[in-house]
Amino acid sequence: MTGPVRSLYGLSTLVRRSLGLQSCLSRCHLKTSAHKRYLTTGFATEYLHNSFPDLTDSQLEIRTAISKVCADFPDEYWIKAETEHRFPVEFHRAVADSGFLGICMPSEYGGSDLGISEAAIMVQTIAESGAAYAGASAVHMNIFGLEPVRKFGTEEQKKRMLVPLIAGKERACFGVTEPNTGLETLKLKSHAVKAEDESGNYVLSGRKIWISTAQVAEKILILVRTTPLEEVKKPSHGLSLFYTDLDRSVVEVKEIQKMGRAAVDSNMLFFDDWNVPKEDLIGEEGNGFKMIMHGMNAERVLIAAEALGIGYAALRRAALYAKDREVFGRKIGKNQAIQHPLADSWMQLEAARLMVYQAAHLYDEGHESGEYANAAKYLAAEAAFRACERAVMTHGGMGYAKEYHVERYFREVMIPRIAPVSREMIFNYIGEKVLGLPRSY
Ligand SMILES: Cc1cc2nc3c(=O)[nH]c(=O)nc-3n(C[C@H](O)[C@H](O)[C@H](O)COP(=O)(O)OP(=O)(O)OC[C@H]3O[C@@H](n4cnc5c(N)ncnc54)[C@H](O)[C@@H]3O)c2cc1C
Repeated sequence: MTGPVRSLYGLSTLVRRSLGLQSCLSRCHLKTSAHKRYLTTGFATEYLHNSFPDLTDSQLEIRTAISKVCADFPDEYWIKAETEHRFPVEFHRAVADSGFLGICMPSEYGGSDLGISEAAIMVQTIAESGAAYAGASAVHMNIFGLEPVRKFGTEEQKKRMLVPLIAGKERACFGVTEPNTGLETLKLKSHAVKAEDESGNYVLSGRKIWISTAQVAEKILILVRTTPLEEVKKPSHGLSLFYTDLDRSVVEVKEIQKMGRAAVDSNMLFFDDWNVPKEDLIGEEGNGFKMIMHGMNAERVLIAAEALGIGYAALRRAALYAKDREVFGRKIGKNQAIQHPLADSWMQLEAARLMVYQAAHLYDEGHESGEYANAAKYLAAEAAFRACERAVMTHGGMGYAKEYHVERYFREVMIPRIAPVSREMIFNYIGEKVLGLPRSY
């Protein structure tokens, strides 16, 4: 389903569920100005911006509804989760209970049939509420991760896999990156062979790295090679995708200590002789790379939206601090050396935001190539990084104190600069695919 019809039904159900409203359909038709008045009073925290005049009614509805969910999870919650290295289970539960985990999944499996444009608003708002990357990462795999199952799974698989994920009863992680091959995904070494018995099952062996949420996830979507590289016509052939139980009796999950987002774990995975049922193979054997690529553009758009959220949160905090802090007998915000970089960051974030929502819109309309999604991810991550750095500097010494949260944003905003694809690989892609230059790698 596309366009307004898609939005109206799913939006109505989703927002009514999360806000406890009698009828959302009538509110969807409120005039924009009245709608915006409602929204400005309805926002949950002083750190959320109200000034996005271009958002559609459905996006504004989503922003209000998810900000209500986030209001129960203030900064103190996130700093505690970070300090204790504890997965934000209550937040994940609250997002699931409000119906948001299935925002862009089909309604027959418990989803809302909305698009990436609405999901982007949702994750931007989560990050912007102060939850930053920890909050967004706690749910984002649930939102886009099972896109290959939605698109290529059988009816039986969709029911078995999507329903518990959308209901928040199961959590999933995503296993692609490997220690020795990094961004060169087609060379990944983990492999699966057919079991020697009659079962038709697969036996997986290998290693993965940086797998987020594997400490808490019950399930994993994992890409492995089923036909050796030497035996395929093209390197993108012979990879297969499984969605299966993360069986801890055979998979060793070892946490990586890292710079930020300590509440949401990242891990090394080691596995050998891991028996995986043939029923957990998604789509055709050997076609896994094509399937995984299908979800990549959506993932990039969502990561970009999350970066925007952190950038706006940092900027807002910086502006509030600069209006309040007095040194040399005047507010520091009166100094242009403080004010101008913040103004510049607002413009950079807004420019990136236009690209993010353009990419989301194109994705929802069926545009398949990745130039806009990649450009959005790059521009948003860089704009957000600069906003976070400037927010730390605006706070002076207090920028380095945990109490003001901007140092947490600054550490977390490094993630979208690196993952799921690096800046350099985006330049390579644009150079080759948009500008027609020779492949440089
Ligand atoms: C916090 C975090 C969470 C993550 N979560 C997940 C997850 O859940 N699941 C998952 O599968 N992965 C995950 N990742 C992995 C992430 O997607 C990779 O780290 C990322 O794709 C980069 O790969 P790499 O680290 O292997 O870098 P490498 O491939 O080793 O590259 C290192 C550097 O060299 C540059 N480089 C390499 N080749 C070229 C070239 N030809 N031209 C120019 N520059 C080049 C890269 O741009 C990069 O800067 C996560 C990473 C982080 C940091």
